[in-house]
Amino acid sequence: MQKEIPYKIYLDETELPREWLNLRAFMHEKPAPLLHPQTRRPMTKDELAEIFCDELAKQEADDTSPFIPIPQAVRDFYKMYRPAPLIRAYCLEKELNTPAKIYYKFEGNNTSGSHKLNSAIPQAYYAKAQGLKGVTTETGAGQWGTALAMACAYFKLDCKVFMVKVSYEQKPFRREVMRTYGATVTPSPSVTTAVGREILDRFPGTGGSLGCAISEAVETARSLDGYRYELGSVLNQVLLHQSVIGLESKTALDKYGEKADIIIGCAGGGSNLGGLIAPFMAQQLEGKAKYRFIAVEPASCPTLTRGKYAYDYCDTGKVCPLSKMYTLGSGFIPSASHAGGLRYHGLTSTLSALYNQGLMEARAVKQTEVFSAAEYFARVEGILPAPESAHAIRVAIDEALECKRTGERKTILFGLTGTGYFDMYAYEKFHDGKMQDFSPTDEELKASLAQLPKL
Ligand SMILES: *Cc1c(COP(=O)(O)O)cnc(C)c1O
Repeated sequence: MQKEIPYKIYLDETELPREWLNLRAFMHEKPAPLLHPQTRRPMTKDELAEIFCDELAKQEADDTSPFIPIPQAVRDFYKMYRPAPLIRAYCLEKELNTPAKIYYKFEGNNTSGSHKLNSAIPQAYYAKAQGLKGVTTETGAGQWGTALAMACAYFKLDCKVFMVKVSYEQKPFRREVMRTYGATVTPSPSVTTAVGREILDRFPGTGGSLGCAISEAVETARSLDGYRYELGSVLNQVLLHQSVIGLESKTALDKYGEKADIIIGCAGGGSNLGGLIAPFMAQQLEGKAKYRFIAVEPASCPTLTRGKYAYDYCDTGKVCPLSKMYTLGSGFIPSASHAGGLRYHGLTSTLSALYNQGLMEARAVKQTEVFSAAEYFARVEGILPAPESAHAIRVAIDEALECKRTGERKTILFGLTGTGYFDMYAYEKFHDGKMQDFSPTDEELKASLAQLPKL
């Protein structure tokens, strides 16, 4: 007989993964390599190592090792907040009156409030191990900056964060959390970098963007001795570290003989989704199982559903390598969407390739629909979700309702990437009926895509 499934499936410390899973090693058709922004040739390890720490540069280029050991010091930190629980959403199932079984992996149970800490810890660890003094980075809504600030505090590294100006102004408490952990926080665009000054000249009064903050952080790392740049999503190394999400989820499901049919995650740069699906997609690529994978993106930043699969810059200032990915163009500045973490013009090359190969689906959702799902979920399941996470909740609910219509008993797994305590300004807008839905027009997208680099 099947064991009764608890509301929360906890794993113990010994079940914490010992190795990350490198999804690219399982892919039959590998994602295209990063190209150097000037020479337009594949980035060598040495070129990568000018921007990233050596070990991370190595991970970035590795598409053959299926598993990479997690250093002991990283596992020790992970143990303070992992394994994260896999929750059976019994209350939600009941409320929806659906035959579907719904599970979610909750990554909001650490101070940074999201899954970003999973990659911040190894990134800071490798920087320290290399004897660096500090790191620079960008942050949009603030989760990544907070995670890296925490990691740098733990490993005693300096941390300089460029925070997208609108968020810096809208989320003063986020900024103070980062400063509590010792980080320096600069609103971007700033006058401290050449690229920031140039953007300010061209667009006075701009609220900034992730692409712009990335350029500033890279420039700063390059200009300081003993510093490297670190990025919280999009890169292969980040997907690799985030595979702990999927590995733990799979262990927990396997324990109860459960198998997911549909796996859903929100997609910004693609790191949590890439991490969540990693072991499941690997199994599918090996021909051992079959799943439906759904990437959920905001209608205001519809990278997969309306973008183009092409080489593009990862940042506005065009100092970062070119990546082959679904993109809206590196100059695309999405209209105000409150899911700051999903406002990125591209999607990691691994997921872009999988989508292009027909192995993953994508869905774009409007923000008012997302917030109504967020509020519903908060009232039923108790957790106050981040707006980004609520994109996945929206589609999980829609799929569960589809099961109700068809009577099918599918098992749905989705990623609940974080909590929304710093997003109450957005919730306020929603409650006051002042939230609007935005979608870029075809003309806007065409104009932005016309700027793609010609190779
Ligand atoms: C950053 C963030 C995301 C989106 O980033 P991905 O790299 O696509 O995972 C989603 N949810 C939360 C809570 C975040 O902080």
